[in-house]
Amino acid sequence: MSTFSIGVDLGGTNLRIAAFTQEWERLKAASMPTRVQAGPSAVLDDMCSAIRELAAEFAQKRTFAGVGVGCPGPLELPSGRVLTPPNLPGFEGLELKTELERRLHCPVVVECDANAAALAECHAGAGKALGFQSLCMLTLGTGVGSGIILNGHVWHGFSGMGGEAGHVPVYHDGLLCGCGSRGCLEQYASATAIARAGKKLVLAGSQNGSATVTARSLAEAALAGDPEAQKIYDEVGKALGIGLASLVSTLNLPLYVVGGGVAAAWDLFSPAMFAALEADSYIYRLSKPASAAVPEHGKTNVVPAKLGPDSGLLGAAMLPFFE
Ligand SMILES: [Zn+2]
Repeated sequence: MSTFSIGVDLGGTNLRIAAFTQEWERLKAASMPTRVQAGPSAVLDDMCSAIRELAAEFAQKRTFAGVGVGCPGPLELPSGRVLTPPNLPGFEGLELKTELERRLHCPVVVECDANAAALAECHAGAGKALGFQSLCMLTLGTGVGSGIILNGHVWHGFSGMGGEAGHVPVYHDGLLCGCGSRGCLEQYASATAIARAGKKLVLAGSQNGSATVTARSLAEAALAGDPEAQKIYDEVGKALGIGLASLVSTLNLPLYVVGGGVAAAWDLFSPAMFAALEADSYIYRLSKPASAAVPEHGKTNVVPAKLGPDSGLLGAAMLPFFE
């Protein structure tokens, strides 16, 4: 009998739940707004009723492997306790794994959302396509998340906080981050940071349009030849290159994947990213492929993510198989 699992992507805006086969084929999905204002108990109610519905639909013909949940970090693992997620106010200290297992009576694996996305890229995205079982992935979204996969499994660190490269400072005494430190990568390479830089341009009068500037609208302006918008993406690339240089020099992994919504602007930021990476990492200079655009085994490769925005959801569904 074939096996299936259920993945949950618990975001600050949307709650997405889907059943997948062990071959990572999506059987069925459900999506709803995350009722953050109503509190954790209401969100868990929504989550559990959707999970029960999916499980009931597929459990007659398939073996149910369990539930995997991707949640904004930082988390305490493997206990599955939520610490202080900026996008989920009121969820501080929630025993997510224990509470879900109590309600669902099935195995539940909780993981940081960026780690889940990295797991999906490893087994179904860039890692699979290029033949690598170890990688580090940066997810550029509202914030900057990261995950490290070693030999097909998530590297957690001793308490679940391994792979939080979004909060590695890239500029000493740089911008103040929501985490309390200064100069974190997240303050330069997230969609939020890009939109903020764009709003400054509008206020300075060098960009047309209203204050509803987004990372995407700036990317469109840069592609249309706006030099100020391109400058913002050069800064994104530079910060990413500095961040990647630390990772490359420390980890010596064969593959680094850049994903999340901002990664769609790869052509805009990657030249500055590779320039900074090359300038700042001796190890990259020693181990780079002949062409950055052509990955090679035995070299340090940096590539855009292969899976789209659903990688976190798929990675969550993989958790029961790769715990
Ligand atoms: Zn930070």
